[in-house]
Amino acid sequence: MQIRDMIGGDRTVASFEFFPPKTPESAERLFATIAELEPLHPSFVSVTYGAGGGTRELTHDLVVRIRRETRLTPMPHLTCVGHSKDEIDSILGRYAEAGIENILALRGDPPGGPGCREHDWNGEAFRYAAELVDHVRAFGERHGVADGRGFCIGVAGFPEGHPGCANRLQEMGHLRSKIDAGADLVITQLFFDNRDFKDFAERCALAGIRVPIIAGIMPVQSVKGMERMADLAQGARYPAPLLRAIQRTDGHDESVRRLGVHWATEQCRDLLDHGVSGLHFYTLNKSGATREIYRTLGIRSSRDFSVT
Ligand code: FAD
Repeated sequence: MQIRDMIGGDRTVASFEFFPPKTPESAERLFATIAELEPLHPSFVSVTYGAGGGTRELTHDLVVRIRRETRLTPMPHLTCVGHSKDEIDSILGRYAEAGIENILALRGDPPGGPGCREHDWNGEAFRYAAELVDHVRAFGERHGVADGRGFCIGVAGFPEGHPGCANRLQEMGHLRSKIDAGADLVITQLFFDNRDFKDFAERCALAGIRVPIIAGIMPVQSVKGMERMADLAQGARYPAPLLRAIQRTDGHDESVRRLGVHWATEQCRDLLDHGVSGLHFYTLNKSGATREIYRTLGIRSSRDFSVT
């Protein structure tokens, strides 16, 4: 099923993000997590793509296994980094054969490891995500994916701004070019202050971006995790009230975890009240925080997000 058919209007979707496990044991743990999350009826689940090297095949394997063994709709992430056009075509061809109809098209993180910012993008076949979107759209149409409709394509958005572009007006233009190239929806980077998301959504509307915007949610789980996320997510502006509350816990692990889940729950409640198109949960391959958020919201299934 295509995500663009599930979204829009008054409907609110939910998605859960996983990363591909590297060992058979962690794969089994992930499928236990997926079994715990499936009753929440996410509209789709997405699977990340490694910044380079040997883990990329694992994305394909996990996506295909989810499609075969569960009732979930998987959306693979696909990035420009290190791929020729032929390689991208081969990946898309295998997805099409496996019945995968949704792709999240990204530029990708530089392959130099966590926190690396440097990369020679001019040496890449696709320098920007917009070029990949254009290619994925054309491939899908040419190869009759989804009865000729082509792939449903998602792209990334950055409520706090992307660190690679200091000019926020130009940045909106770059996002718009991804939509003009054929993207159907935006999934955002995680953020902790809903004002950033709401302002971003308004700026998108002013820039003529009319596709649904799905809000990225990741509860703080630990002080160490916060620090790592600030690096990986290339920003992560923690608002002062959240930092102050975390300081009050004196770094006590369970207190920080509870506080993080509480904060994310309030973010979700507020976004749902304001008619967000969707919530995208960065699960880190664990089910606990997401299930706790649903429980505290009093929501048994993602199908209950929309109030009509
Ligand atoms: P782009 O849209 O290409 O933008 C990259 C930068 O270039 C931006 O600063 C933009 O403003 C600028 N730019 C765009 N077009 C132009 C132009 N024509 N001229 C000049 N500047 C331009 N990374 C991974 O490696 N694997 C993943 O699985 C992954 N999953 C992600 C999922 C989500 C939901 C999000 C939000 C991010 C994810 N990332 C992933 C990280 C993402 O790849 C990086 O943040 C990357 O730096 C930006 O990707 P993009 O697709 O937005 O790139």
